[in-house]
Amino acid sequence: MIVVCPSCGAKNRVPEEKRSADPQCGQCHAKLLPREPIKLNEQNFSQFVTHSDLPILIDLWAEWCGPCKMMAPHFAQVAAQNPQVIFAKINTETSPRLSQAFHVRSIPTLVLMNKTTEIARISGALRSTEMQQWLDQHLQS
Ligand SMILES: [Zn+2]
Repeated sequence: MIVVCPSCGAKNRVPEEKRSADPQCGQCHAKLLPREPIKLNEQNFSQFVTHSDLPILIDLWAEWCGPCKMMAPHFAQVAAQNPQVIFAKINTETSPRLSQAFHVRSIPTLVLMNKTTEIARISGALRSTEMQQWLDQHLQS
């Protein structure tokens, strides 16, 4: 399985059985699967999404958005519970072109992706239990 390093963007091959053993990047030694939300932006997005073999759940948010901030700890909690999914945040203000490419109408918006394919999306703040339920539903289908 290929995992893209969230720090330097290097592609790392991680054997299935090593996935739960906190694998590190061969280039920069950062954690490849940190179990906490990583940051994607216009510079690293396409490299990351194109090459990662794990599904990615993206939180599109902004600094001024109250519901986004309310949801942040829930997003982090669900990230810690789901090592089989990569959790990523995109700041819509600092990445306006990405936000446009996603046709974001309101935030927060969650988008679940498998490589460059969008599997599902949902708008509005969710609590961790709702988020987990939604995620399970779409990962199975
Ligand atoms: Zn790295």
